[in-house]
Amino acid sequence: MPIATVNPANGETLRTYEAMGEEEIERRLQLAEATFRTYRTSTLEERAGKLHRAAELLEQDAQEIGRVITTEMGKPVRQARAEAAKCAKAMRWYADHAAGLLADEEPAEAEVKDSGASRVLVRYRPLGPVLAVMPWNFPLWQVVRFAAPALMAGNVGLLKHSSNVPQTALYLEDLFHRAGFPEGCFQTLLIGSAAVDGVLRDERVRAATLTGSEPAGRAVAATSGEMIKKTVLELGGSDPFVVMPSADLDRAAEVAVNARVQNTGQSCIAAKRFIVHSDVYDAFTERFTEGMKALKVGDPLEEDTDVGPLSTEQGLDDLMELVDDAVRGGAEVLCGGERPDGPGWYYPPTVLAGITRGMRIHREEAFGPVATLYRAADLDEAVLIANDTDFGLSSNVWTRDESDVDRFVRDLEAGGVYVNGMTASHPAFPFGGVKRSGYGRELSGHGIREFCNITTVWHG
Ligand code: NDP
Repeated sequence: MPIATVNPANGETLRTYEAMGEEEIERRLQLAEATFRTYRTSTLEERAGKLHRAAELLEQDAQEIGRVITTEMGKPVRQARAEAAKCAKAMRWYADHAAGLLADEEPAEAEVKDSGASRVLVRYRPLGPVLAVMPWNFPLWQVVRFAAPALMAGNVGLLKHSSNVPQTALYLEDLFHRAGFPEGCFQTLLIGSAAVDGVLRDERVRAATLTGSEPAGRAVAATSGEMIKKTVLELGGSDPFVVMPSADLDRAAEVAVNARVQNTGQSCIAAKRFIVHSDVYDAFTERFTEGMKALKVGDPLEEDTDVGPLSTEQGLDDLMELVDDAVRGGAEVLCGGERPDGPGWYYPPTVLAGITRGMRIHREEAFGPVATLYRAADLDEAVLIANDTDFGLSSNVWTRDESDVDRFVRDLEAGGVYVNGMTASHPAFPFGGVKRSGYGRELSGHGIREFCNITTVWHG
């Protein structure tokens, strides 16, 4: 894939970039290593001051960078600005909390004595340059949720962003530099995916994090495994959204629409499979389908657009294939299902019912505004359907019955269970999945400690 900005609203190529060659990559790796040697000795207060400044600058730039994001990957501009605001919040959260999250730990006195020590400390030290392979769907957020904790921990970052968001990738490097981080603390590598392997094999790169598809995750994890380097993987999801008879149906249907179409449906934590108890199936389906039909699809630069174009032509083709396969297999189209005429990679909000296990959409991630509906006879069947997937990122359950909640929290195979609400990440809470959604956690104390050398300091 060429490194280029191609406007998803009309397919026009606006800017292309030459990939960095070996010499430039080498220069940047050297700089990363050299910068790490001194940056690792900076104080948490110094790092926090710079991160606060980055948050301020990002807020000042929100209007401008929002438009760049929309032009590169097509999300409604309102959502692009909201993404910038969310990043600023996460930067401040880590700036304010890193000292506590990384404070030395002292094991219990009895254990210290038992080991024959006079004193024991557990200290969180930085690892070194970390490679971040990131996707286009939240082109600021995916990067910042790695970069903010990494920089606070004393690591330095190397970003390999998706080839379709080069301007956002370069903006991020510039942002951290303007905020006062030394050159080399955060660098963008403008490279294609084929060049990632070589960077990962370089001894100066100490660890890697990837958000994206399963094949990309597998490739990065395989090389990292060979090189014995720590990885965190945040891959796809096909989150269930379970509606039980005691749920507030109006609210559930309203939130369901947003949970499915946020970011034009291109979110790993979007609710994708709607599993509805048969007692409320018809009532929920009617409300949900009406909500999906009422959305405004159109120019993502318009303030009142709810759903923009898909980010890439390939993404549109993949989504259409999934829907066509389901329809051929007997799925019923309750709304949408037809690509509109005209330029741009638009696809309408679509609801499919009558999904069976043989359909590809039952197993694969629908990365666009397409919802699948399932009817469940009871709670046991709802749990079975919810877990009948290779993914395990998050889940949403709607019920006012506490015993239902206990069952879901005990049995759903996912890294999150959101009760009477939709999954949304927050800097203070761990984020990540199980099964093929990946491993490791981002955000919270868990996220910042993923890329630390957890060091036992023992005094005799
Ligand atoms: P990819 O996984 O291909 O892209 C994500 C990042 O990984 C990009 O920076 C990409 O670079 C890089 N990459 C791709 N292949 C490799 C590789 N073999 N080795 C190293 N790096 C690699 O996602 P796509 O954009 O192709 O989207 C395909 C599907 O992935 C979506 O339909 C969706 O299901 C899932 N996805 C999930 C996301 C999530 O948030 N979990 C985000 C994006 C996609 P380059 O752009 O240069 O190829």
